[in-house]
Amino acid sequence: MRLDKFICKSTELSRAEARRAIHAGLAVVNGAAVTHEAAQVHENNHITLDGQRLKPRPSRYFMMHKPAGTLCSNVDGAYPSLFRGLNIDKPDELHIVGRLDADTTGLVLLTDDGRWSFNITHPQRQCDKVYRVSLRDPLNEQVAHRFAQGLQLQGENAPTLPARLESIAPREVLLTITEGRFHQVKRMFAAVGNRVTGLHREQIGNIRLNVPVGQWRVLTSNEVAGA
Ligand code: URA
Repeated sequence: MRLDKFICKSTELSRAEARRAIHAGLAVVNGAAVTHEAAQVHENNHITLDGQRLKPRPSRYFMMHKPAGTLCSNVDGAYPSLFRGLNIDKPDELHIVGRLDADTTGLVLLTDDGRWSFNITHPQRQCDKVYRVSLRDPLNEQVAHRFAQGLQLQGENAPTLPARLESIAPREVLLTITEGRFHQVKRMFAAVGNRVTGLHREQIGNIRLNVPVGQWRVLTSNEVAGA
């Protein structure tokens, strides 16, 4: 990771303060002063700041129940950022693992561990994401088969990976997908002539949403290991 990020992860300094310290020649990596903030370092390197050995804080992992009308973004836009409801230290160090649309509710994972989020979001890792979907029209019998085979979405090079559909009621289904393409669920139902009227993510891998809307909690070590 970048030297300035490493310093932020290991101290109470902000990114700007970390950069100033680096430019002042206070950062030493494996015995050599490094004055470039973007220099790549590894947590196994011996890194000191003003003579103090730095060790990054352990990674953090959270779940949050996203309300409708919030943005999966670090900053406000047309709607307030989801991060407004996350009253923890240094929220700007976290990123969202698999964004949801502003009108979608449900499970959002947040972490500062890039490798962990890659494993969850990369389609080759086949991590299940389960959505409860409300539909405008009753489910057509052939849709489950078409989703299982993979659908060609407009503007995409490859069809969607096989998805599982379970009918709950005529206009309500559970859909399990292993990818996270842009507006994927809404586009899949649009491709079969239906329309999503409500979308809620219930589960990612083994992690099931179990906090009230707008609330968050730290993930257990089992959840982190099994995601
Ligand atoms: N698919 C969508 O269309 N929207 C979401 O928010 C998540 C998945």
